[in-house]
Parts: sequence; C-alpha cells; structure tokens
Amino acid sequence: MKTTGKVTGIISNLVTVEVDGPVAQNEICFIDLNGTRLMAEVIKVGGNTASVQVYESTRGLKAGDKVEFQGYMLEATLGPGLLSSNFDGLQNNLSTMTGVFLKRGEYTPALDTDKLWSFKPIAEVGQQVSAADWLGEVQEGWLPHKIMVPFSFEGIYTVKNIAKAGDYKITDTVAVLTNADGDDLEVTMVQRWPVKVAVGAFADKPRPFKIMETGVRCIDTLNPIAEGGTGFIPGPFGCGKTVLQHALAEQADADVIIMAACGERANEVVEIFTEFPELKDKHTGRSLMERTIIICNTSNMPVAAREASVYTAMTLGEYYRAMGMKVLLLADSTSRWAQALREMSNRLEELPGQDGFPVDLSAVISNFYARAGFVRLNNGATGSITFIGTVSPAGGNLKEPVTESTKKAARCFYGLSQNRADKKRYPAVDPVDSYSKYLEYPEIVEYLDEKIEKGWVDKVVKTKYIIRRGKDAFEQINILGDDGVPIAYHEQYWKSELVDFVILQQDAFDDIDSSTPIERQQFMLNLVLEICDRQFSFDNFEQCTTFFKELINICRQMNYSEFKSEQFNKYYEQLRKELSNE
Ligand code: ADP
Ligand code: MG
Repeated sequence: MKTTGKVTGIISNLVTVEVDGPVAQNEICFIDLNGTRLMAEVIKVGGNTASVQVYESTRGLKAGDKVEFQGYMLEATLGPGLLSSNFDGLQNNLSTMTGVFLKRGEYTPALDTDKLWSFKPIAEVGQQVSAADWLGEVQEGWLPHKIMVPFSFEGIYTVKNIAKAGDYKITDTVAVLTNADGDDLEVTMVQRWPVKVAVGAFADKPRPFKIMETGVRCIDTLNPIAEGGTGFIPGPFGCGKTVLQHALAEQADADVIIMAACGERANEVVEIFTEFPELKDKHTGRSLMERTIIICNTSNMPVAAREASVYTAMTLGEYYRAMGMKVLLLADSTSRWAQALREMSNRLEELPGQDGFPVDLSAVISNFYARAGFVRLNNGATGSITFIGTVSPAGGNLKEPVTESTKKAARCFYGLSQNRADKKRYPAVDPVDSYSKYLEYPEIVEYLDEKIEKGWVDKVVKTKYIIRRGKDAFEQINILGDDGVPIAYHEQYWKSELVDFVILQQDAFDDIDSSTPIERQQFMLNLVLEICDRQFSFDNFEQCTTFFKELINICRQMNYSEFKSEQFNKYYEQLRKELSNE
C-alpha cells in the first residue's frame, strides 16, 4: 500500500502535504494536478505533514490536490545507451522528447528499451559474485560496457544462469543469480540507483597517485590534477571557465566525459548542445559526443531539478567507474547548484548561514567532492572519477561562501583572474594564486620523477618562484619607473614574462597550441628554465627589453609549430643563436 496525502500549502515549488502514513526523507512522490503528474521529493518530514520540493512549476496547484508517495528515492537509470545522451537533472532524455521543452508532467525514458545490444558473457555458471561484479559486456560505441551485478544486491550470490552471446534488449534477463537463502533473482542490463547515495561497490579507494594529462600547460606543468582527483575553477563571468572546461573535455586522458551544465543561462546550455557534438576527440579524431553524457538544467528550470543534476551526473560517473573506466566529470557551474540549495533552505525558513546559504553548505559540497576518486574494484581492475567544477562568484569575490567551501573540498585551485582575461592572457588561470595540493603527495612526486624526469617537482617550484619574483619586480618598476630600478629588476621581470608567454598562455583555438603532450611540456619548461638560469649583462634596460621580446617571439612561434618539425627546429636554432650572441 502506497502512502497518500493531500496538499495543504504551496510556496512557489515548496509544497506541504498532509499524509496518511509513513513517508521517508528524500522519497519521491507525484502530485496530481488535473491528471498531470508532477514529480516531487520529500525534503522535510514532521508528524503527519511532509514538505516536498516539486521538480516542476506548481502553477495552478490547489490545496486538497492528491499526492501519492512512491517508496523510493530519486534514482538514476543505469544501462547501455547512456553515452551520447542529453539528459536533464531528472534524467529525462532530451534527445527523444517531443517538443523544444518538456511539458509539465512529461517524463521521457532515459534509455531506449527497443534497441538490441550484442551481449557477451564474462561470468560463468557457478561463480560467486557480489554487487558491481562484471557479468557480461556489450559494446557501447567503441567502449566495452560492463553489465554488472546490481549495486543494490547485498551479500554473495551464485551465478545460476548466464545468457549466451547474442542480441538482447536492456530489459531482457541476461543472468539469474541465487542468493544465500536459495532465492533466484533475475538480472537485466538495466539497474537503478538513488542519486544522492554514493555507489560503494569497490574494494579499496587509495589516495590518487597518477597524473591525468590534460594537454593544458598551466595545469599539467604547473598545477597537475591527479587521476581520480578534484579541482575547481572559480572565475568571474567571461574569464574563460567554459572554454577551459571544453578544452579539458576534448583533451584529457579520460574514457568517459560527463558534463553537468547546471543552471547556467539557457542560451549557454543551447550552446553546449550545438558545440559539444562538434568537438573532436583530440586522441582519436572522432566526435567527442560518442563518449560524452550531457546533463543540463538552466536557471529557468525549477530549483529542485537544478539541485538534482549534479547528483545524477555523479551517479552516472560512479556507474562507469565501476566498469574500470577513467571518468572525467565536469560541472559548470556549481554556484548555481549552491544557489538552488539556498533557495530551498530559505523557503523552508531554516536558520540561514553566511550570505543566506544553508548552514551545512560546506558539508554538502565536501560530501559531493568526496564521491570522486580512484578505486580498485573487486576484480583488481581500477577506475576513477576526476571531478572539476567551476564556481562563478558574484563580482569575482573569492571570499564568498561557495568558493570558500569548495576550496576546502577540492585539491586543485585554478583561479581565473579578471586582470589576465582583460589583457587577453588566456587561459586566465592566475599563476600566483593557483595551486595543486597533489604536488605535495610523495607518491605523486615519485610518479612525476618516473614519468617525466627526476626532480621535476623542484623545477615546477622554481618556475613558480620566477613568476612571483617577476611580479615583485614589475611592481617596483611601476612605482620607481624604468630608470629608477637596477637593470636586474628588468631582467627578473622579463624572465617571468617568458614563462608567462611560453608556458602559461595557450591558445585554445589553435590546432597545435591548444593541446601540448607531456614530452613537449617537459622540453619547453627545460628550455625556459635554462634561459632563466643565465645571468645576462645588459648595458641598459632597453637592451634587456628588446632581447627578451625577441626571445619570447621565437619561443611563441615554436608553440605554434608541430613539435620537432622542420619549422620548430628552425626556430630552435634561431633561439640558440640569439642566446650565444649575448
Ligand atoms: P566564462 O565561462 O567564464 O563566462 P568563457 O569560457 O565563455 O567565459 O570565455 C569567454 C571568452 O574568452 C571566450 O569566448 C574566448 O573568446 C575567450 N577565451 C577564454 N579562454 C581562452 C583561451 N584559452 N584561448 C583563447 N581565447 C579564450
Ligand atoms: Mg561559462
């Protein structure tokens, strides 16, 4: 018997319901509005009333309207066919919907139930299995999609029956498992999982120890992100958050990309739908969309649906991670998610925290970031979710609660600077404020020693020092004038400009410059450091300026030429000549 109730109060999409039985926190219910069923989630229970947030507009809803509780939480549907899909936060498939916008109460199925998938068994009859163990495999695009024991299965099961290789629909039974009590359970290719609960089906979650290459120099060279690591990109409007995330999506060494576009302006989401299918996989040249899932909500969608989207995205990530894949999860922007939390909290008349955000904002953000990570699966394979979110602080104020809370949760900080964006120094990642805590992990230092060269992290630290010294010199020159400071100050300043122009600045729209492989990053950093190590003896600051401008120019041209090509080598020789003349 389902619990039912009737509407007693409505404030925007917060609805209070008088109930006739037990309801659970986060349970899903449907409100009947003249035959249209509006989906809602329980967010507060007290006595015989429940507060629910409706995922739709509540226009026209009346006191007395009937409510039916479902006994399950907001769930994601997991199975073959998720890749290349566009979903909203409730996993309505936006590719199959009828109009431009979903009508109220219209929910489209997440997966195609008619499509046939070519199934190959992995598990054998008699084998002992538990949640998330691989039973079989279908080919999803060019990725092997594992069919797993449902995450909700507790304990050990014995495989009683497994389907032979062949074509099946996702709802066909592909395995029969027997539990400890001797009950048989049928398993299909599709399973469901509550989005707000982390999928815990893995053996071990060690600290990240590998670097995820992204081809973006200011990340890989200076502030690398770990595979299974977390990072965030705070930045004012127009500073390049979206461009940077697109670059990461195209270039990062990941198997699956999940893009949660939560609550940015509607036209930006339309842009994602038009731009993403055009993005090319930098590794294979195929369409990026083949291994991408987009989950989007715009700020004109009701607040609850916006809040759900990041959780749905994370759950899909956990699903693919359990197959042993490297998932890159991007969220643009998590500020809209936090704002959704704030709107709801305010409507519930909870005691507000700083700036009106819920008191537990920090905990909510931390718990969410903690779901990312590198895991070892029960069968010894590994999988990871690397999570990078953007934050759009109002007025670029990095002291606001969402940025501060995210700073506590994420290990990498890529702060975009208005000043750099104004000067067209892209990506506008601030070289002084940004950091990667992974550089302090001994296992990462060791990994980089091995992967790039011994002592690499020392070189990175040194490079950052050059940038900071250059900034100091620049301030002195600004105050005292070109002639008011020793020539050494100019040299210091120009060395940091060399780092800035050659390493930090990178044209996201150039075929060659946009993505720099790690060997090339190593070569360029060594080259730049070699120049910075020299002590030059200029007669006057004009000479210093001219010399470095020339040098920067040659190095920049190297960035735009194919690595070690004829043209590249030509510039390199020119640079050597320039340096030996000095
Ligand atoms: P945000 O998402 O922070 O509002 P966008 O990512 O849309 O900002 O970037 C705004 C503009 O800045 C882009 O349209 C582009 O012209 C420029 N831009 C940003 N990053 C780069 C880059 N790496 N290379 C070249 N241009 C860039
Ligand atoms: Mg943007």
